[in-house]
Amino acid sequence: MNSKAQNIIEEKATYQDLDHGITLVDAEYGKPGAAAIYLMIEDGDVAIIETGTNHSVPYIKQVLEAKGLSFNNVRYVIPTHVHLDHAGGAGELMHLCKNAQLVIHPFGAAHMIDPSKLEAGTIAVYGEKKFRELYGKIRPVDASRVIEAAGFFKLKLNGRKLQFLDTPGHARHHFCVYDIKSNGIFTGDTFGVSYPQLTTAHGPCVFATTTPVQFDPGSLLQSIECLASREPDIMYLTHFGPVVPTEAAIKQLKRSVRAFANMALELQAEPENRIERLQVMIKSYLLETLAAMGCEQSPEFQAEVIENDVLLNAQGLDFWLGRQG
Ligand SMILES: [Zn+2]
Repeated sequence: MNSKAQNIIEEKATYQDLDHGITLVDAEYGKPGAAAIYLMIEDGDVAIIETGTNHSVPYIKQVLEAKGLSFNNVRYVIPTHVHLDHAGGAGELMHLCKNAQLVIHPFGAAHMIDPSKLEAGTIAVYGEKKFRELYGKIRPVDASRVIEAAGFFKLKLNGRKLQFLDTPGHARHHFCVYDIKSNGIFTGDTFGVSYPQLTTAHGPCVFATTTPVQFDPGSLLQSIECLASREPDIMYLTHFGPVVPTEAAIKQLKRSVRAFANMALELQAEPENRIERLQVMIKSYLLETLAAMGCEQSPEFQAEVIENDVLLNAQGLDFWLGRQG
């Protein structure tokens, strides 16, 4: 183990107990407050929804231990989709959680069992150096421990009912997890992203994430409708934390899906510097939205918080245009 990894292990986990036996653990994905992992604890049985990366696994261990539990209590490891900020630690977790099964969308299962394509695809987005820093080496999951959860699949965690909703649009291998007990939905990236630091007096700023390589605005709008139709009290966003899905928040999210798709279509005939130009457009759209909501943070701070999403969204929109033919 190198000294950098050692330092990460020695750091203290940041976590927050929410209601209904749900705990948010900061995955420390590059920086604090970027990606969440949710522990659901039901009478000593644990489901881990979202895994962060390999570097996040020690934080999960710490939080379980703080609650008098261990990896042996984990029954299910449930990444919402196989993008590596959600599923990068799944193989390592499954190695450590001997009693757990991995629950994954049918289109994502093969990538968890043999992560080589997933690694190659992610390296194509980030480059090899950044990939290794962010994710390390992805450990495969034994096929016999994988449950494929298609739409409306149901699962019980010690009697607690979970229902899986097929939610393409951000990615085809994306499901959301509806938890009846909290009347909440673990939304992965389907209900967009919303950073608490940018929440305003007019509520949270929620916007779509159009990460490469399967963004599909029509499906995403339908999936958002599917989530809203459950009339949930709370959305557990991976980026970052619980958000109350008010009508205003849902409207704002849907508006962002259309706005981002339209920005891309505007540049359909102009491939040159398209990613750079999309970044400028997305950034100004988001800063204008935040200004209209009366966000009190400085524009520089706002830009820093959304920087990574602006780049990923631009890259994803460029991919999407490429697929339009
Ligand atoms: Zn994603």
